[in-house]
Amino acid sequence: MTDIPKSHPRYASLVARERVAEGVKRGFTSSQGLIAQGRGECFDYLLGEKTTESAARATHVAAAMLLAAKRPALSVNGNVAALVPEEMVKLASILKAPLEVNLFHRSEERVKRIADLLREHGATQVLGERPDAIVPGLDHARAKATRGGIFDSDVVLIPLEDGDRCEALMAMGKKVIAIDLNPLSRTSRQATISIVDNILRAVPNLTAKAKELSAMPRADLEKVVQGYDNQRSLRQAVREIQDHLNSQFRS
Ligand code: ATP
Repeated sequence: MTDIPKSHPRYASLVARERVAEGVKRGFTSSQGLIAQGRGECFDYLLGEKTTESAARATHVAAAMLLAAKRPALSVNGNVAALVPEEMVKLASILKAPLEVNLFHRSEERVKRIADLLREHGATQVLGERPDAIVPGLDHARAKATRGGIFDSDVVLIPLEDGDRCEALMAMGKKVIAIDLNPLSRTSRQATISIVDNILRAVPNLTAKAKELSAMPRADLEKVVQGYDNQRSLRQAVREIQDHLNSQFRS
């Protein structure tokens, strides 16, 4: 990878860009993943490259929802594998949830590379290599899912997902938690909980919250989730962007 000096003002963003580019070179991220990363970077810039209040609140509620789930599952695509493989394995371990490789541009080789990468990072339960079910309403390659994983989960975490798949999972009656820097994306607007934050910050924050809440009885976790309103949270995210932008200029 290119050597980026830590003192560079855009260090975190440049490292992320390098990781996704490296993911493409190593064959687990598709070239379209570079475009998704660029779009994410733009929204992160608008947010001030920090975890906002609304994102912290959504992360807290998402941790409670995942802990209260009967069958949680975590989805991993090529960008997620490039950016936070180790962090996703840690989250899966705290939640005792399977990781399932789920690709928009599916190739069996890429699925295997990502599954191997997750196993190298210590994952014990990686699904997606032998799909045995179909998510209704999607075209065949993108509909592939696995029993015991996303297919029969009650709560599913879908970082950096596209709107169609989010909609199809919601239509199956699942609770869907998105991580997406774009508060206006179809995914963000449809999900049960949208964490409008960079996955680099969101996954470690989610793991820390899950650890903090792990001893809470299910009834109390459900109370944390009650009353959360995703549309209100997205409106707040847009206001946070506006406030950040207004703060950049002298009056
Ligand atoms: P939709 O169909 O939901 O409207 P889209 O067509 O914009 O979404 P993609 O192009 O697949 O979806 O991109 C996935 C989403 O992931 C984008 O909204 C982008 O902002 C977001 N994203 C990209 N990189 C990151 C990142 N590092 N952290 C969080 N979100 C990201």
